[in-house]
Amino acid sequence: MTDVDALVAFLRARLDERSDPEAPEPHLSTCAAVRWGFAERDCDCGEPDRVLAEVDAKRRIIDHIEDQWDAAYGEPGRFLPPEWVAVLQLLALPYADHPEFRQEWRP
Ligand SMILES: [Zn+2]
Repeated sequence: MTDVDALVAFLRARLDERSDPEAPEPHLSTCAAVRWGFAERDCDCGEPDRVLAEVDAKRRIIDHIEDQWDAAYGEPGRFLPPEWVAVLQLLALPYADHPEFRQEWRP
């Protein structure tokens, strides 16, 4: 597995964790459900859907890079232009404190 393969696998694993239905939902502090209690009020902040949309957008960015990579070079992992690697590194940066994050992935 190349470093880019590992980086993509790392990113996909983090996105899977964020979209896991068993994971606690994020809510803004202004959310009615947070202020009044989930038994009393429904969520009105939209943050859970926003997080899922963000995860979907990031997955699409990774898919797009992999599609371009496959179209241009066939076998994945042989070569990836540095500008595309930089995009993957930036997507991984929010997870720099994760134990599986490699320092070499820092942009
Ligand atoms: Zn909410």
